[in-house]
Amino acid sequence: MPERVDLRLPLRADLVDEQPYGAPQLDVAHLLNVNENPYAPPEAVVRDIADSVAAAATTLNRYPDREFLDLRADLAGYLAGESAAEGLTAHHIWAANGSNEVMLHLLQAFGGPGRTVMSFAPTYSMYPEYARDSLTEWVAGTRRADHTLDTGEVIAQIEKVRPAVVLLASPNNPTGTALPLADTRAIAQACASTGPGGAATVLVIDEAYAEFRRDGTPSALTVLGEYPHLAVARTMSKAFALAGARVGYLAAAPELIDCLRIVRLPYHLSAVTQTVARAALRHTGALQAQVAQLREERDACVTWLREQGFTVADTDANFALFGTFDDRHAVWQGLLQKGVLIRETGPEGYLRVSIGTAEDMAAFRGALKEVTGR
Ligand code: PMP
Repeated sequence: MPERVDLRLPLRADLVDEQPYGAPQLDVAHLLNVNENPYAPPEAVVRDIADSVAAAATTLNRYPDREFLDLRADLAGYLAGESAAEGLTAHHIWAANGSNEVMLHLLQAFGGPGRTVMSFAPTYSMYPEYARDSLTEWVAGTRRADHTLDTGEVIAQIEKVRPAVVLLASPNNPTGTALPLADTRAIAQACASTGPGGAATVLVIDEAYAEFRRDGTPSALTVLGEYPHLAVARTMSKAFALAGARVGYLAAAPELIDCLRIVRLPYHLSAVTQTVARAALRHTGALQAQVAQLREERDACVTWLREQGFTVADTDANFALFGTFDDRHAVWQGLLQKGVLIRETGPEGYLRVSIGTAEDMAAFRGALKEVTGR
């Protein structure tokens, strides 16, 4: 690297010492650090995706469908089946290049200077970055020691801060904690007039990992119709095994979706992305075939970690947060040396492991035993 020179670029003062976000992308045998689905798309799905892209390629001289209503209708159909959500149409759906972009749209539309976005730590580490990038003030409330939310406390904090947007991940990253539906309801109710100037606070339930939830944990989608200021974000990056395609989406009242349409860049979702997502949705069953197995691996992993004496948060996601370690970095490094890449994230002393194949998990267990001497 050449020595750093003063380029005199007018980088915003608040970005000067910032680093680009992202976990290490390393070439190791067991990639268990970014909560991907370890199973590649099956051959029949790959073929349908490739054929669909070939067809789309014949018109790539034209801009794509800016409103992508076909994809939005397909996503509405998927959610209706997956979560027993009623009354969803294409007009209740928004999509973008990953749910990260969907949530950035939310902050571009509802945040901004003089406004606040709130969440409850520890939570997804991109949330403060959406705030920074949209010039919205970031306020982090707290969770209980077991990482669950104290609903009364959450509502009290929302009433005090009066944020324009509240982001709640359920299951939460990095803890795996799901938010019970009764709590979502109570918080949504409280948000009806806590926003700027007596407007509502937009309550976003980020369900990136919803398909991995344990039985008896209903999706917030089931109460969507009751709250015009509620938005439920999802992604095709996890259960759909489609992280590389970059497709995230959201369901909300059409009035809320219309606000997001104002801030999106024209044609933000490429024709290739739209066609890949639609092809994948035709094969939902095949792409999500391993979700049940990943859930079983997760539960087995949690049980095993507890048997070894670790503290493990209850998890409804495809990862587990475990600890505690006096020197978590040394454990992370030790695992990496054995070809197992996990994530150094979350509260001090904890590590997060994504759930992989049975082979990945056996490698993880073996490496962790060796590294910690348990
Ligand atoms: N929400 C949560 C809670 C996540 O953990 C992630 C990805 N790690 C995302 C949203 C974003 O995922 P994507 O942009 O791939 O949809």
